[in-house]
Amino acid sequence: MTLVSGWGRFPVVDTEMLRPRSFAAVGDAVARGSIARGNGRAYGDAAIGAARTIEMTGFDRVRSFDPATGRLRLEAGVQLSDIIETFAPRGFLPFVVPGTRFVTVGGAIAADVHGKNHHGEGGFGRYVDSILLRTGQGEVIEASREQNPDAFFATIGGMGLTGIILEATMRLRPVETGWIRERVISAADLDAAMRALDAGDTATYSVAWIDCVARGGDLGRSLIYLGEHARADELEAGAGRFPAGKDPGLAVPVDLPSMTLNRYSVRAFNELYYRMGARRAGSHHVVSLYPYFFPLDSVGAWNRIYGRRGFLQHQCVIPTAGARGVLGEILDRVSRRGDASFLAVLKKLGEGDGLLSFPLPGYTLALDVPLKGDILDFLDEIDRLVVAAGGRLYLAKDARQSRATFEAGYPALPRFNAIRKALDPDGNIRSKLSQRLFDEV
Ligand SMILES: Cc1cc2nc3c(=O)[nH]c(=O)nc-3n(C[C@H](O)[C@H](O)[C@H](O)COP(=O)(O)OP(=O)(O)OC[C@H]3O[C@@H](n4cnc5c(N)ncnc54)[C@H](O)[C@@H]3O)c2cc1C
Repeated sequence: MTLVSGWGRFPVVDTEMLRPRSFAAVGDAVARGSIARGNGRAYGDAAIGAARTIEMTGFDRVRSFDPATGRLRLEAGVQLSDIIETFAPRGFLPFVVPGTRFVTVGGAIAADVHGKNHHGEGGFGRYVDSILLRTGQGEVIEASREQNPDAFFATIGGMGLTGIILEATMRLRPVETGWIRERVISAADLDAAMRALDAGDTATYSVAWIDCVARGGDLGRSLIYLGEHARADELEAGAGRFPAGKDPGLAVPVDLPSMTLNRYSVRAFNELYYRMGARRAGSHHVVSLYPYFFPLDSVGAWNRIYGRRGFLQHQCVIPTAGARGVLGEILDRVSRRGDASFLAVLKKLGEGDGLLSFPLPGYTLALDVPLKGDILDFLDEIDRLVVAAGGRLYLAKDARQSRATFEAGYPALPRFNAIRKALDPDGNIRSKLSQRLFDEV
């Protein structure tokens, strides 16, 4: 048995870890209580099997690529970082990337991950044409919008619970360069931040970083980053069309004592970050895709700064109507605690595609929260605000929401459960997350 956790390092669970090397071996590996695991970037317990965990990163081959259509067939363990490094120099990027490039295609489909363009272009699943799925019953099926559509729409965003994704066909976006034309806007408070995001609806990419320690009249003070793909004629003389991706240079070598992050250090960091960003506000800059899309990837193992106890990410989405009031209330509670969140990100989302996809039209707020004291009770209170506003929490970030919160947030759950039952009547595919939130006990 092996002790395994997600990116947040909570919970840590004993599981039998298997690393099959052929699709036949994947079939043999599936037994009662199995789940697929990609690169382990989900924060909580989604990629940990109830009994055994089937790690898919060994399936890392590209099968075919058609430059005329941008269609790419590949095994599910290929990471987005490899797709970017291989295909950017040929003028193609994934349509959707999350905040880290170290995720597998299987993990990106299973969480239907969103990027900074969800408000206009949708999530990862929108650019997936078909999926080769090994169901819990032992069948290997191809699922698409036309063929086995129930399995397709349950697998997109289905957190691995419909079976093991072996391969997928996805579309890539043609781009002239690997650079982003970025505009930074500084917003004095939450109203200004939400107005700036609304005005940025026409931008391809938009995201706000919120100083969630700021209080009173400064509550919600933010930096908004808008972005467009830069054309070749917008690059500085001498800049190559496609910047090189660097491996994480600096890495956090050990678990920092949890006292390193306290209300004083967080306040000082946020103040500095806001002031440095505000100085760049207004003008346009051309930046490499790597710091624009993946700012945290440049620090390896940054999850260790939260110490051995780990941390939680609380990511909710609130429908547009009523979002201002609820976001203000959440930020007020977070800022009054002072030490609750080191990093807060606000984004706009559009409609989700899968039955259990997280996005809905509204605003999503993500808070990184050190695991200490009465934080679980604090987050339960925040969940009540989210549910009352018709919102939901993101399963890929979750380690602790209650069944009641989950069921209230995902109205397509009964339909998902019926499809899952048909694909896996004996209930072989089960994760720690599904035991906590879905399965009969
Ligand atoms: C720094 C950071 C930033 C992030 N930013 C974002 C963001 O901006 N937007 C966003 O949407 N998410 C974001 N995430 C979350 C991350 O994109 C998702 O959790 C993603 O699913 C991780 O992919 P993975 O390959 O690591 O999968 P894992 O974490 O290993 O697994 C995640 C889920 O996918 C399932 N799965 C994995 N592989 C397969 C397979 N082959 N077949 C079937 N199911 C499979 C697992 O069972 C599990 O339910 C971020 C995470 C980090 C650490």
